[in-house]
Formats: sequence, structure tokens, C-alpha cells
Amino acid sequence: MENYQSLLEKQKAFFRTGQTKSVEFRKQALNKLKNLVTANEQNILDALKADLNKPEVEGKRAEIGLVVSEIDFMLEHLSDWTKPEEVPTPATHEGASSFIMADPYGAALVIAPWNYPFQLALNPLAGAIAAGNTAVLKPSELTPNTSHLLAALINDHFDEDYLRVVEGEVETSTALLKENFDYIFFTGSTGVGRIVAEAAAKHLTPVTLELGGKSPVIVHEDADLDETAARIARGKYANAGQTCVAPDYVLAHSRVKDELIAKIKQVITNNYGTEVSADTFPHVVSERHFDRLQGFLDNGTLAAGGGSDRSQLFIEPTILDNVSWDDAVMQDEIFGPILPVLTYDELPEAVEKIMDRPKPLALYLFSDDEGVQDDVFGNLSFGGGAINDTINHMTSHYLPFGGVGDSGMGAYHGKASFDTFTHYKSVLKRSNK
Ligand code: NAD
Repeated sequence: MENYQSLLEKQKAFFRTGQTKSVEFRKQALNKLKNLVTANEQNILDALKADLNKPEVEGKRAEIGLVVSEIDFMLEHLSDWTKPEEVPTPATHEGASSFIMADPYGAALVIAPWNYPFQLALNPLAGAIAAGNTAVLKPSELTPNTSHLLAALINDHFDEDYLRVVEGEVETSTALLKENFDYIFFTGSTGVGRIVAEAAAKHLTPVTLELGGKSPVIVHEDADLDETAARIARGKYANAGQTCVAPDYVLAHSRVKDELIAKIKQVITNNYGTEVSADTFPHVVSERHFDRLQGFLDNGTLAAGGGSDRSQLFIEPTILDNVSWDDAVMQDEIFGPILPVLTYDELPEAVEKIMDRPKPLALYLFSDDEGVQDDVFGNLSFGGGAINDTINHMTSHYLPFGGVGDSGMGAYHGKASFDTFTHYKSVLKRSNK
């Protein structure tokens, strides 16, 4: 197993010079990163196409676009965020003043997944840079073209004492996690999140864990079913369902279930045609994931899709009706283009079912009834979510993004990214008068 001690020592030594703390230095690095992204747009889209058959429009919007807008937001606000914040001083400390300094942790480690392999690598990296850290980035080995491109972009243009991409598989991650980083930012599955948390505990390294889980969609009886169907289908089938906040399953009021399924089916046809093509629809990332997903296709009854082609790692956008809570598809995060639909008769029943399970990363509710909105959003614990929409809460710079319980800890995006990679030092300044 390779040893990353000397790389980390170099980064820690560079951090000690204080250069990464200069706001000008951070802005230069962010600008350079942004320029590398925009100048390599076609290379990035090609890599995403080769790894996941990701359509250009999805690559532009959900990978490149999100990285560029996150960097722009940071550049706009960085000078404010880095200023010490003056806070009141209690009367008992008369004559003193108090302030809070935004201090980078030092050398950060970012471990990224494969589903949005570009954005989920570079957005945390931008946060680490904005907050004044050095960073090592380990992209996912399951998307090798994007991983190689990230390595070329960063390693050819930044000094390794400051930023370094280390490519590799589990052994590489494991070796990196042995080192005493000052901060670890991990995006991936809940199981591996536990391994990361254990490794971090050895050095008492603070962590952010951006994990997954089964994100429910509740469709109440008053929902506008046309909009609901369109917004569920968009969130579910983008990237072939391989989105951490994709609707995992639908919990529909029994009175609207059949009509909802018919409408989602219609949206699939409108969006992808009567015959969904493996040439244009994103692929499942690996044979292991394909086999896992294929095993769900006989759960419940098939209401739409169900076709697949292992040689192309292609699974049609699928809806499963009459699914029960005990079916295999309802046990773990699906992470593929398969949408099980279950029903409820009374709202408290739906809320209880969700409460019985691990806390989801996202929760969606379709209803204009404010009482229903309060019952659901007031009672359930989940990372973040949306009313009458899916996945779009993730793309606001003003909404910290993260999970709770099994779906993770900590949050990022916008100012929250800066905060995540920052230690806030509290200082009391007393005068000698
Ligand atoms: P994963 O946990 O298998 O891998 C993530 C990273 O960890 C990869 O870089 C991988 O090389 C590394 N890794 C894998 N096994 C490891 C081990 N035993 N020890 C150390 N490192 C290891 O996750 P994935 O399959 O790449 O991504 C899918 C999961 O990520 C889903 O659960 C999804 O919901 C979640 N996810 C969460 C978010 C979020 O923002 N919350 C975003 C995207 C994906």
C-alpha cells in the first residue's frame, strides 16, 4: 500500500507558510480552477460521456454549470466571509472586546463518488480552497475518464504542495485515510461513510459525510398530478436515477396512485420517446450495479419500462406498482432508474412509515395544503427537501446541503462550503487599562 505521508507533510509545510490564508491567493486559485473548467468544457463532457453516457445537456447543467456558479458565488462573497466578525461582550467582561476569526483547518482530504464525478469532486475542492486550506482529492475509480481528467487539470496546473489529485481504488482511499489530515470531506455510501468516520476518529479529524439513503416522495390526494408527474420523472430519471437526492420511491395517496402512475408513464414517453434508446439514456455505472438493479425488476408489478441490456449497462426508465415495504427494492437505496410506488390512506400512516426507517437525505411532498406540509415537514427528520418539487433544493447557494443520521453529517454549498472547511476561532481581547 502506498504511503501518502510525504505528500501530506509537504502540504502541511506549505500551509504553515501562511500563503493559502491570503484572500488574494484564494481568489487566484478559484479563478484558475474556474478557467481550467471553462477551457476544458468539451474534454469534461467527453469524459462524462465515456464514463456514464451522460448527455451533454446534463453534463453542462449538473456538472460544469454547478461548479462554475459555485466558484462565482465564492469569488463574490469571499472578502466578506473572511473578515473577523465582531460580537457583543458580556457586562461581566467590561473593557474587553470579542471577535470570531475564520481560520482554515489546514490540509484537507476530499473523497468523491462516481455519480456526478466532476461536480462532486470540484465543489468540495472549491470550498476547501475558499476557506484557505490545501487539499488532496481522491476521485472515484468507477469513472476513470473523469478521474484522469481531474488529475490532469489539477496536477498539471497546481503545485502538489497545495492541491493534488490522487487516483486509485479502495486501497488508495484506505492509505490516505491512515494519514493525519486536518479535515476530511467524504461523499459516498453510508457503509463507506462509517469506515471514513472510524478512520477519522483515530486522529480526531473532523469530517463531513455526504451520504445517501432512500429519499421518499409523498404525493397527497390534493396534488397537481401533471406537475407532480413531470417533476418526479425529472428528478428520478436524470442520470438514470444515479443521483443522491433522486426520489427513491413514491408514497402516493391511494385515491391518486393510478392516475399518477399513468401520468409519469406519459412523461417518460414525452421525454424519451416510446422506445427509450440506450444511445441517449445514461448508463448504469458498472455490471455490479446493473445486476443489483436488475434483481428489482420482478418486485411488485411492472407499470412502465422494465427492459434492459447488460452489454450496454442500460435499464429503461421503470415504474413498479403494487410494491410492498418488504420487497427487496425497498430495503436499500435504489440508485437506478427504477421507481417503486406504494400507497397510504391516511397521512400519519405515511409519516410513521418514513419515521420507522433511517433518516433520508431528501424528502419531497406534493401538496398545496399547508396543514399537510406542516405535518410532514414539521414531524420528519431528513437532510433537506422540497415541497412540490424534487432535487432542486440542491442547486441553491443559499440552502446548506447535507444529510442527517444515516444520510450524513455536516453540509456544504455556498457559504456552508466555506463554513465546513473553516474553524471559527473565538477571541476575547482585553485591555490592560
Ligand atoms: P462509495 O461509498 O462506494 O465510494 C465513494 C468513494 O469512497 C470512492 O472514491 C471510493 O473509491 C471510496 N471508497 C469505496 N470503498 C471504500 C472503502 N472501503 N474505504 C475507503 N474508501 C472507499 O460510493 P459511490 O458508489 O461512489 O457513490 C454512491 C453513493 O454515494 C450513494 O449512496 C449516493 O447516495 C451517495 N452520494 C451522496 C451524495 C451526497 O451529496 N450526499 C452525492 C452523491 C452520491
